[in-house]
Amino acid sequence: MEVAIMGAGMSGLSCAITLERHGIKPTIFEKRNRVGDRFVNGEATFSILNRPIKDDLQYLKENYDIKLTPTDMIRKLVFHSKNEIGSIDGPIGYVNIRGRHENSYECQLEEQLEAEINFNSTYEYEQLCKEFEYVVLATGDGAYATKLGNYRCDLTTTIKGVTVEGEFLTNITHVWFNYDVIPKGYAWLIPFTEKEANLVIAYPDYPNNIKLDINTVWETFYSIACKDLDQNFRITDKFEITNYMMGICDRPIIDNTYFIGNCFGTISPGLGFGQFASVLTGVYSAYDLCNLGKYDEFVKPLFENYNNSIVLRRLLENLNNDNIDLIVRNLDNKLMDRLINEIASNKSHLEILKALTPTMKLWNNYKKSKV
Ligand SMILES: Cc1cc2nc3c(=O)[nH]c(=O)nc-3n(C[C@H](O)[C@H](O)[C@H](O)COP(=O)(O)OP(=O)(O)OC[C@H]3O[C@@H](n4cnc5c(N)ncnc54)[C@H](O)[C@@H]3O)c2cc1C
Repeated sequence: MEVAIMGAGMSGLSCAITLERHGIKPTIFEKRNRVGDRFVNGEATFSILNRPIKDDLQYLKENYDIKLTPTDMIRKLVFHSKNEIGSIDGPIGYVNIRGRHENSYECQLEEQLEAEINFNSTYEYEQLCKEFEYVVLATGDGAYATKLGNYRCDLTTTIKGVTVEGEFLTNITHVWFNYDVIPKGYAWLIPFTEKEANLVIAYPDYPNNIKLDINTVWETFYSIACKDLDQNFRITDKFEITNYMMGICDRPIIDNTYFIGNCFGTISPGLGFGQFASVLTGVYSAYDLCNLGKYDEFVKPLFENYNNSIVLRRLLENLNNDNIDLIVRNLDNKLMDRLINEIASNKSHLEILKALTPTMKLWNNYKKSKV
């Protein structure tokens, strides 16, 4: 069987590894000159959002033999709102490295692969369709799916981030919600060593936000972050991404083409997580190609998760700074603290996003009726 995989990122490599293990040798095309050839970035996976799976990485290893070693386990997530600070404690998820770092998830996946990757590829999808029996689209965005009329883009975002040197605990991450500074968006700090972290802002490109000057937003946020963390960072790298698409395919397969990773719609619009689902779509598409199941059946829970995440996004956008302050203030209230820690704990079975979706929908409808 002749399979072309376009893109050697999280989903494409997971697909390739799984195909190889089942006796199919794919041909992998990557437009860059090496795996992970982009800025080094600390990212996170939150097992709490993927229930009933308790531990994302253990799940991938035990079920699909995909081995990913994180930088650390997240033990604390600190929330900063306009006037409050609160935290959730417990084994919330993992932090990991992406990009051109030797321990990045892309590099770890490449090590599990036998095939050579065709780097610096200039192949277009249309050419691959002619030359291969199957094409797996894993280019990390919805561009091809849009071109094929198979993608619903729900929002695009502007992202700006830096790598900073400072002093960090690798098991503590921070997130900021302050709509005076980052309207309808958020910011986060993810350490990837004890000396380095990424500090990033992201906001949706709604008409009011398009007027914003990203550098002004950034500078205002950066001074708040330095103050909150009581550090004078040294910036060692910078990146900016515009029009980062969040959307989903109508159909996960069309004719001989599989859409996986962000090409499928694995990035969750609520909070921007996409790594875990990207690996899953890679494995699922490979299973379908090996006749071990149907890709469109496997991805059904991912469609549901995406749709729940859109409801979460709308809810976040309907909040104001006073609401956020109230929530964050109560995170450290003893009763709330215990409840949240219970939900975040590994023992909990609660599918938090699914369970909260009906209530979030009611709130969103109520807010809509008030406009
Ligand atoms: C700033 C930022 C922070 C993020 N933080 C998190 C986080 O904390 N947690 C989380 O879970 N997710 C996070 N995400 C999302 C996550 O990184 C993505 O969902 C995930 O990487 C998608 O995997 P993928 O395989 O679809 O794409 P990628 O891993 O991006 O791989 C796509 C590959 O395709 C290649 N390619 C592109 N075009 C072509 C072409 N024409 N021909 C050949 N190759 C091509 C690219 O060079 C790349 O190697 C973040 C995303 C961004 C941008």
